[in-house]
Amino acid sequence: MIRLLIFLVLMLQIIACGAPKPGQFTYPEPVDTSTRPIEMQEKKTWTVAGVYADNQFDAARLNDFTQLDDSTWQATIRPENFPINMSPWYAFRLWADSTISINLRLHYENGRHRYPPKISTNGRTWQPIDSTAMQPVDSTDLLVKLDLSTDTIFFAAQELVPSRDVESWCSLMALHPAVTYGSAGISKQGRNIPMLIINEGEPKGKEMVVVLSRQHPPEVTGYFAMQAFVEELLADKPLSNAFRKKYRILVFPLMNPDGVDNGHWRHNAGGIDLNRDWAYYRQPEVRQVTARIVQEAHEFKNPVVLGLDFHSTWKDLYYTFDETLPSVLHGYKDYWLQGIEEALPGYKADDRPNGLNQPISKTWFFQQFRAESVTYEIGDNTPRDFVRRKGAVAAIEMMELMILRN
Ligand SMILES: [Zn+2]
Repeated sequence: MIRLLIFLVLMLQIIACGAPKPGQFTYPEPVDTSTRPIEMQEKKTWTVAGVYADNQFDAARLNDFTQLDDSTWQATIRPENFPINMSPWYAFRLWADSTISINLRLHYENGRHRYPPKISTNGRTWQPIDSTAMQPVDSTDLLVKLDLSTDTIFFAAQELVPSRDVESWCSLMALHPAVTYGSAGISKQGRNIPMLIINEGEPKGKEMVVVLSRQHPPEVTGYFAMQAFVEELLADKPLSNAFRKKYRILVFPLMNPDGVDNGHWRHNAGGIDLNRDWAYYRQPEVRQVTARIVQEAHEFKNPVVLGLDFHSTWKDLYYTFDETLPSVLHGYKDYWLQGIEEALPGYKADDRPNGLNQPISKTWFFQQFRAESVTYEIGDNTPRDFVRRKGAVAAIEMMELMILRN
């Protein structure tokens, strides 16, 4: 009996040693992704001369609220730490004792205005503010004319998509029999890192596609594109049905739940840009997700052939690999982008090829698996119906290419 136990323990150790781990990779521009302190915003309601503001909801960001003169109130927005990428997220609620027109100054510390404000009465449907009601101030701030009343309005940089909404979307996707809704682990502050596994039939031996989103909290247009992409994979159409039988897909729709729910500009709760930690694994979100991808690929003998990471930036573009990086799908991206262009009359894909410069998810997929990989960027202000349409088209074109290749 004891011999059997020793044998089993030895076998387990051999199996454990045999399982591959995410590799250590070096880059010409290494990044120190050691945890740094962040400033947590104080959650409160401000009452200032009959006007109220609050940040007591997930994804809110408001650091101070003051009155500048009889008709002007100021909302101060600070990043979680500094230095930081210039993506100054803000989101708060406003109301007043009575109907009143005010000037609202968006005042940025360590930042300058980027996202045109949107308002909402319910936090779900959003209206852009008329451009004639906005005017830049002092090269960093924005002055907005606003009508307030006793009814609360949401005032935000982009649509609110907190972790709760991502989990609801995952639950909805999991109604599809091909979807398993699981967890890749727990963030630094204890939030779930959701994961969807899409597969039909025997999972073993299939090639794998990995989809990521929301490493950077304000990048909700990238998240919308990812949703449309995944929903197309789950459509009841001959192409999607065939694709799910042939490939296994892992989806990590919310890489940075702490940053999202805390209304961060860029970083996780460790004060780090997660998309610079894909060689070091110092942050728990990247550490657990990479370990999970490697483990799934090993356990089910699923070679990862394609990684897609959805982001937002100033305009629509694709960061791809240049000719020096022959992935297992070498040439894929040229056909893919051409297919997307042909499916969207008048659209020209903006391809930005580069090499292995930075420890980001895109380069990790190549280094770890020799997989093809693309950072799929959607503009902050790209019309939302086009974001969704292009996301679906991107899925269709990907599936056609992948079905044809074997
Ligand atoms: Zn990004």
